Amino acid sequence: EPLKVLLDRFDAQQSGSRRGSITLLTLDTVRNGLQNGCIDVFFQPKVTVPDRRLAGVEALVRWRAEDGRLIPPIAFLPVVEENGLIDELTAQVFQIAVSAAAGWVKDGLNIKVAVNFSVESLNRFDLVDFLIDTAREKGIDPDKLILEVTESRIMEEVTTPLEILTRLRIKGAGLAIDDFGTGASSMQQLKRIPFTELKIDRAFVAGAPTDDEARAMLESSIALAKKLDLSIVAEGVETQEEWDLIESLGVEIVQGYFIAKPMPADELLAWARANGD
Ligand code: C2E
Ligand code: CA
Ligand code: CA
Ligand code: CA
Repeated sequence: EPLKVLLDRFDAQQSGSRRGSITLLTLDTVRNGLQNGCIDVFFQPKVTVPDRRLAGVEALVRWRAEDGRLIPPIAFLPVVEENGLIDELTAQVFQIAVSAAAGWVKDGLNIKVAVNFSVESLNRFDLVDFLIDTAREKGIDPDKLILEVTESRIMEEVTTPLEILTRLRIKGAGLAIDDFGTGASSMQQLKRIPFTELKIDRAFVAGAPTDDEARAMLESSIALAKKLDLSIVAEGVETQEEWDLIESLGVEIVQGYFIAKPMPADELLAWARANGD
């Protein structure tokens, strides 16, 4: 029977569906959809602090159902990951993202594009050439790419992901440690992978104005990132109050609804122009 999951992180306007519970897509739907163009990608601006200039975008996968509805990743990523389909999804998202980037370059917008990877999916060495070649074919230099890496479970065998990420870093791609502070082994990851960016999870940003412990975590994450010479991105900034706090703590880049929600590629240019970029 269909599994109900809470739609707590996806905005009703984006999904076109009501807030509340949503149904996880079935394996059949996912298999067919992956072959039939159901993968869509939205892009959310990352801006510099305090001047709000566009620094780059994060590519976020969406599912385009047959009736046109947009379905959030929480409703299909678990099915994709548990059934060995993540490589196919990642390849499609990456191709769509670099095509979009190439389009923006033509319009004079030369920005970095970040794509999400779970550590578990970094398991084939040919991924390095696939990513670099796909980007170059579209005229996008590797130094315009950022891989946002999350670790959803602790892995015993980490040599392959480590080597893949290091090779991509040597070719110029940036590496972001995503959801910092929430994973079980963030500290270990920081030590072994040559990251360039640290993304502080929304949980710490949201709690910080009122909760001393969240505030302490936020401040120490920022201090750690500075010591390690990583750029810092605060995720999920929703309010002026959060923006002000983040700015006062010296964070360089912000991503969140306060600035912009994820949007289709063709809306980004207009957004950037209106933003003064
Ligand atoms: P994430 O990488 O941490 O991405 C940020 C999520 O926070 C996105 O949710 C984004 O829409 C949401 N967000 C941004 N600003 C705000 C804000 O101000 N407030 C709140 N409440 N939320 C905000 P989304 O798009 O639903 O993605 C959820 C997760 O799914 C991502 O979290 C990422 O872990 C995963 N994901 C998304 N796209 C991909 C993909 O192409 N590949 C893989 N492997 N994972 C992906
Ligand atoms: Ca991310
Ligand atoms: Ca994140
Ligand atoms: Ca997250």
